[in-house]
Amino acid sequence: MSEGESPDLTELAKRRGFFLQSAGAYGGVSGFYTFGPQGAALKDNIENTWRDRFTVQEGNMEIDAPTIMPEPVFEASGHLDGFDDMIVECPDCGESHRADHVVEDNTDYEEAEALGAERVGEIIAEYELVCPVCGTGLAGQAIEEFNLMFETNIGPGSSSPGYLRPETAQGIFVEFPQLAEYARNQLPFGVTQVGRAYRNEISPRKSLVRVREFTQAELELFIDPEEDEPDLSAVEDVVAPFYSAEAQEDDDGEARELTIREAVDEGLVADPWIAYYLGVATEWYERIGVDMDRFRFRQHLGGELAHYAADCWDAESYITGDWVEIAGFAYRSDYDLSKHDEYSDEDYTIFKQYDEPVTVERPTVDPDMSYLGPEFGGAAGDVADALETLAESDPDAFRDAADDPEGDGTVTVEVDGESHEVPVGQTGFAVEEVTESGEHILPHVVEPSLGIDRALYTVLDHCYREDEIDGEERTFLELPAEVAPTTVGVFPLMDRDGLGERAREVAADLREQGLSVAYDDSGAIGRRYRRQDEVGTPFCVTVDYATVGEARDEDEGEPGTVTVRERDTTAQRRLPIEELPETLEALRDGDLEFAEL
Ligand code: AMP
Repeated sequence: MSEGESPDLTELAKRRGFFLQSAGAYGGVSGFYTFGPQGAALKDNIENTWRDRFTVQEGNMEIDAPTIMPEPVFEASGHLDGFDDMIVECPDCGESHRADHVVEDNTDYEEAEALGAERVGEIIAEYELVCPVCGTGLAGQAIEEFNLMFETNIGPGSSSPGYLRPETAQGIFVEFPQLAEYARNQLPFGVTQVGRAYRNEISPRKSLVRVREFTQAELELFIDPEEDEPDLSAVEDVVAPFYSAEAQEDDDGEARELTIREAVDEGLVADPWIAYYLGVATEWYERIGVDMDRFRFRQHLGGELAHYAADCWDAESYITGDWVEIAGFAYRSDYDLSKHDEYSDEDYTIFKQYDEPVTVERPTVDPDMSYLGPEFGGAAGDVADALETLAESDPDAFRDAADDPEGDGTVTVEVDGESHEVPVGQTGFAVEEVTESGEHILPHVVEPSLGIDRALYTVLDHCYREDEIDGEERTFLELPAEVAPTTVGVFPLMDRDGLGERAREVAADLREQGLSVAYDDSGAIGRRYRRQDEVGTPFCVTVDYATVGEARDEDEGEPGTVTVRERDTTAQRRLPIEELPETLEALRDGDLEFAEL
């Protein structure tokens, strides 16, 4: 177990089927995990609530792109050149480490990546930092860049390199021209995707927190930056802790609780779209069981910001003894679409129709080539092009030249660093009036990018409880019913006298209602409750002698009723069997509270 992991959680995760390191029989490989039956169900449920909130409720479109894409995609996106981490190799044992992590783990520096490789190298030397594995000094070792993408070949041979996607987003961006068609070219529109992403992390660690294959849930919202505004009223009262860049730079700085509206009005969150999604995400994290006392939004420091990003915030949760980024919210401007527009043969703009057609003046030139040819020789064509560019950017240069009685009546253009003067009369300069119905624009992108594995780990950690029931210690997961892997455990008090049969019928009815059911008839009933408590099953139903009309005395319950027990309080109620499916469904969906039964 590596440093910072919660021992109880990791042990419980494996023992009860949440997650385990993959291929353990072959020694296991760091950074790859298999979700067991409980973990896979929990992950599915978390993804489904994300889908409900970020796709369905927001009216967005979900797509499902391949996980391998050809090299040109990542050339355009910048990942091929720039998706690197800093690596430092131990001169003695040869182990490679993330240089910024070596600094963060052993000094007061936070977010060391933002400091740059050179400074990180200096800090390693100043603090005489050593290899975390063998203790050899790392001062003076080169800080190299290591590209995190997994490379492969598409088809036989090596002529067609491909990469496992390091984020799901590019699968959305590359298809933008077609997606815009699906959205009938109307901005704003949002496209979501949940799926695997791969990063060849240098030092995977902290269980599910830093892995090499993980699941991202991303939304790319395409907007017209001049027109589109979010409906902040939908989330303006949501309260969240905001840890500003300023507070991070102050020794006593702390996160402050603000409503989304306050964060916008104060100018703390510069972009209202980002603020909107911070609100949506807060509601979602709370819904899946994240403890809001161990949750905050952290503003990126100046050095962390990508050059194209105006404002970035991370969602962070307190897990493994540390604050960990669980989501990123970025205003990405038109960076992504402009790159694919430039690198591919497709048009990534959208035609923005004006409310009313507008008449605009369009300066044009029609140079007299019979003059330019003899005058400029081989450069004549370039001079003509330069005149055209000048007419668009500075039509007044032509007007002034024509109007100035004192001047020599020429305009000056530069070709290959050389100035050329052309009499304005030879340029064929004119201004035409044209009517335009709209213009082509590159939409801007707002991106909430959530990590599912880190969300799942946070939920397990934050919902982990220990208490004492009838003098016996128990551990349980206080998972919201909506995300719990199993909604209801069904037990016969004993597997005899027809109780087992009746309980199996109850289980089948509940499954038919669409509920996730675990049937268990082995061991003492208390042990069965504990097993379900440990995996977070919110309700258990017990079929006993009263159910089948064979109670020894009336107090044990009416015939045809069963016991329903709530996990958190262990309170029990008797309910008629026929009411079970709908009651449990309402309890799961939050339409009914157990206390109301
Ligand atoms: P990024 O594109 O780096 O901002 O990542 C977006 C989200 O993906 C992060 O907030 C994490 O939740 C998740 N993520 C990124 N890298 C990893 C990783 N190595 N292991 C698990 N989750 C990750």
